[in-house]
Amino acid sequence: MRFTDKVVLVLGGNSGIGLAAAQAFAAEGGKVHLTGRNQKTIDAAVASIPGSVGYAADIADIASSERVVSAVEAVDGRIDVLFINAGVGGFAPLEGITESDWDHVHGVNLKGCVFALQKAVRAMGEGGAIVVTGSIGAHGALEGNGTYAAAKAGLAMAMKVFAKELLPRSIRLNMVSPGPIDTPLLHRNPGMGPDDVARLKDMMIANIPMHRMGESDEVAKAVLFLASDDASFITGTDLLVDGGLIELS
Ligand code: NAP
Repeated sequence: MRFTDKVVLVLGGNSGIGLAAAQAFAAEGGKVHLTGRNQKTIDAAVASIPGSVGYAADIADIASSERVVSAVEAVDGRIDVLFINAGVGGFAPLEGITESDWDHVHGVNLKGCVFALQKAVRAMGEGGAIVVTGSIGAHGALEGNGTYAAAKAGLAMAMKVFAKELLPRSIRLNMVSPGPIDTPLLHRNPGMGPDDVARLKDMMIANIPMHRMGESDEVAKAVLFLASDDASFITGTDLLVDGGLIELS
């Protein structure tokens, strides 16, 4: 029970990796607050996690992140563990990238995450821990992934800087970078039907040294490790959870 009496805020906690992490934090004693956009899945997530609180909040809307942090403070007074996980995909080759797609992906995956950190960190005291979800997209070049990769690579570098800035406050900040994980994200690509998703999965599996996709709870375990005192001497790192894809391919 590594998170007994810890107040945990999971941004993007109603689906996939974030939901698995929120459930795992609660299973180890954490008092979980979670956000997302979809009220139905927020309600389902809260129902699956005893004692949790859910908020509908768009991370691209900075005022909305401010409201979530104030709401957590009103209930529990502080944040001990912050997991910034909200993210959207978006595939397009160079010639197909539109300004609105670029702004949307960067508004959520980069700008929104940075300002959510800025708002939440004021509610964190000494000894707090932050984990941010990056992506192997920031570590390797995949055709069609330019917009998403740029956002996640920008996020990774910004987080290194903030990890350094937070050292005097004894707050640790680390990233996890998942490889291909079987979550609803894959099914959210506009213009991709079930057959396209199946082909994409087969293509990814063929390239992964472990010859399978990862599961959300395998990423959640890495998140909980980095957020826990087990990682007390670790900050500013980016842990790949990718079946060896980046290091062994
Ligand atoms: P997912 O099931 O689609 O979950 C994405 C989460 O982000 C959901 O909770 C979603 O909430 C939330 N979210 C998206 N846009 C948001 C916004 N504007 N404001 C607030 N919340 C928002 O996908 P996932 O695979 O678990 O993704 C989690 C993270 O892992 C993302 O950062 C993603 O980039 C990263 N990642 C995933 C993979 C993979 O293969 N699955 C690989 C590398 C990195 P709603 O459902 O309410 O929209």
